[in-house]
Amino acid sequence: MKPIIVSGIKPSGVLHIGNYLGMIKQSVDLQESGKYSCLYFVADYHSLTTGYKPEEKSAEVMGIITDLLAAGLDPKKSILFVQSHILEHANLAWIFNTLTSMGQLERMVEYKEKVAEGQVPNAGLFDYPVLMAADILLYKARKVPVGEDQRQHLELARDIARTFNKKFGETFPEPEGVFTKALRVMSLSDPKKKMSKTMPAGCLYLTDSPKKIAEKIGAAVTDSQKEVGYDPKNRPGISNLVNIYAEFSDDTPAAVVKKFQGASYKEFKGAAAELVSEKLREIQERKSEIEKNKKEIMRIVGEGAESVRPVAQKTLAEVKNKIGLV
Ligand code: ATP
Ligand code: MG
Repeated sequence: MKPIIVSGIKPSGVLHIGNYLGMIKQSVDLQESGKYSCLYFVADYHSLTTGYKPEEKSAEVMGIITDLLAAGLDPKKSILFVQSHILEHANLAWIFNTLTSMGQLERMVEYKEKVAEGQVPNAGLFDYPVLMAADILLYKARKVPVGEDQRQHLELARDIARTFNKKFGETFPEPEGVFTKALRVMSLSDPKKKMSKTMPAGCLYLTDSPKKIAEKIGAAVTDSQKEVGYDPKNRPGISNLVNIYAEFSDDTPAAVVKKFQGASYKEFKGAAAELVSEKLREIQERKSEIEKNKKEIMRIVGEGAESVRPVAQKTLAEVKNKIGLV
């Protein structure tokens, strides 16, 4: 059996290039390598932790599936499903809750950041990393393609696997992250913060038109220096744009800086906007085709749920047996 890959994405708004470079692009590469059994899901239970309108949720879920398909995930090669269709995720999360201390969760940076940004600190938001551990361990996944912002949560999933194995016998492998070179795409308006669906101001969306992309990159916060350079710590704005250019051109930041030696910020931003528009155009064209057929999208996730459910049921039965439930 091939090693299992699992990753999820929240239907909490429109996808941006951080989601694409941090998770989706690598997920497509892993799928194409043919070396893994790839499971990708829409994390709808996770998305309930943030304020939302019920009447918009199903369109958001459908939108994410469409985006994943448009970006290159292929239901013939990867399994696509919706988290809440597999009840075992929440079941296993409950059991993992009893193995996780409050202190472990209180240390989570994302929780602290989201609360600092004004999100309501509901118990679900606090407990999010435990559900994420269940999402991964339910399938005994080996690798998890995620952005750098998820590193700490992934570490918790490894801790939970270790704790469980120690207490109840070897059950879960410790999952490893698969990170991109870009690691963390930063907000265009505040390059000290990561680009986030829930902070629309600094997002470059996968759905943005070339005009919008040129406007947004043109207005991206940089610094008062003149030369294109790469120094994420001291020059986060321009370094973020260099990173974005590097990822979309499959090059290194150093090569990008060299390529634009002597160019003004304006020239570099123009070239970056063109490159991003060109890449996103392909995804947008595919998306407009795919979204015409909602029935087909439902069929894909229906089939996806059918194929992962037996695995989820088997793991939960094993866990219940090992922890002593009848
Ligand atoms: P939210 O603001 O609702 O948390 P988000 O933009 O952080 O939304 P998620 O659905 O939480 O998106 O994350 C989906 C995937 O995208 C995860 O693997 C995450 O690590 C990755 N990701 C999110 N933002 C970035 C970013 N700015 N750079 C790189 N990867 C990212
Ligand atoms: Mg997030």
